[in-house]
Amino acid sequence: MNVLQGYDLIDGQGTPIQRGVDIVIDGDTIREIRPTRAEPTGMLVIPGLINNHTHGTAYGPLFPSGHEALSREQVRANLDRHLREGTTTVMCVDGFVLPPEETHPINVKLASCNTPACLEAATVADGGGLTEANRAFTAQQAIEAGAVALGEIGAGHTLGGGGASYMYIPAEIEKRTGVTITPRQANALKVAVLGRHISATAFDQAAVEQALAGAGLVGKLEVKDVREIVSNIVLPAFDIALRGIAEAADVARQFDVPVLVHNAAASMSKVAAAAATGVRMIAGHSNHSSFELREAVQHAERLKGMGAVIDVSTLDTFGARRLTTGPELLYALFEAGLVDTISTDYAGGHHDSILLAIDQATKAGVVSLPAAIAMATANVADAIPGIAPRRGRVVPGAIADLVVTDPANLHNVRMVMVSGTVV
Ligand SMILES: [Zn+2]
Repeated sequence: MNVLQGYDLIDGQGTPIQRGVDIVIDGDTIREIRPTRAEPTGMLVIPGLINNHTHGTAYGPLFPSGHEALSREQVRANLDRHLREGTTTVMCVDGFVLPPEETHPINVKLASCNTPACLEAATVADGGGLTEANRAFTAQQAIEAGAVALGEIGAGHTLGGGGASYMYIPAEIEKRTGVTITPRQANALKVAVLGRHISATAFDQAAVEQALAGAGLVGKLEVKDVREIVSNIVLPAFDIALRGIAEAADVARQFDVPVLVHNAAASMSKVAAAAATGVRMIAGHSNHSSFELREAVQHAERLKGMGAVIDVSTLDTFGARRLTTGPELLYALFEAGLVDTISTDYAGGHHDSILLAIDQATKAGVVSLPAAIAMATANVADAIPGIAPRRGRVVPGAIADLVVTDPANLHNVRMVMVSGTVV
């Protein structure tokens, strides 16, 4: 028996904070929660977080574009970081990885994006990390081997989103000119050439000239060069990846698992069409920076009305801000009462922690603390039945995945326990 004494508790189910409790743990299981007789510690216990949208957290091709894998050290560093941030379960949505080996205390669950169109989109967009084994490991096989969802279907790398802006466009421009541009500068070039919704007809000569000047590329690249570079990176995979959304929704329905989709301005109409079929859908990062504010809120309302789970991602909203400019979209979705789950996504390796986002959002008054904690714990467990059975709640009978943190600065995590063991 292990007893945590004198804590305040948020149980993950959205119920109000319980003051001054002891949590009795037997092996890996929570046995009892009772009023304490000990001195209050002033610290808060919450369930270990369940993060449904991570990349680079399993050994295999990175992203649904099948990019070259990260090193094992880098994957372990990513997992360590999630754990330090209070996350005890991650779902890796890179989509082509083989079943994980147990090498880390964090619970790693997989999603698969290996349907024919998604594989083709990955091959066209990148595919540099796809081995024959990865290609052959279909969504059906992945689900049979324990994958708990389809996803990420479409991605910033195949649908002209963040991945194009922080990876492929800067890399190609550097190759051609020797100039290193920022993700935001690359994004401005992309939007000038193809618009927020990704369409060849959105080309805007004046905007391209302005973006070239903004990126310090005047005299180094012509407008037509930029148009060609951006179009050649984004467009070949784009329509194939869009087709992948409906296809993956069909597969998800067939195998009765949820489908996690890349929800952004470029994919919104296909996402809405798939949601209308009644598939269990997680609308990933519904606060994607490609949305305008009203558009994000109305789109999320519509998806929620069709039964989709509205996920928001922390992205790099509070820290690096390489692509995300601020918390406005995130806060608007919270204030509208539309958010079901909170995840991090990858943000080019610069994600902010979920507890930091909750800390900031609750201090801004846009969401209550118990509701926000539920969005990162029990709500996720309920939305994706296989992701974390008996986890995500601090109640008798649940597995003891717990986080002790400072209520004044939630991201100041003091202790993390997985399956009853302090890690
Ligand atoms: Zn995405």
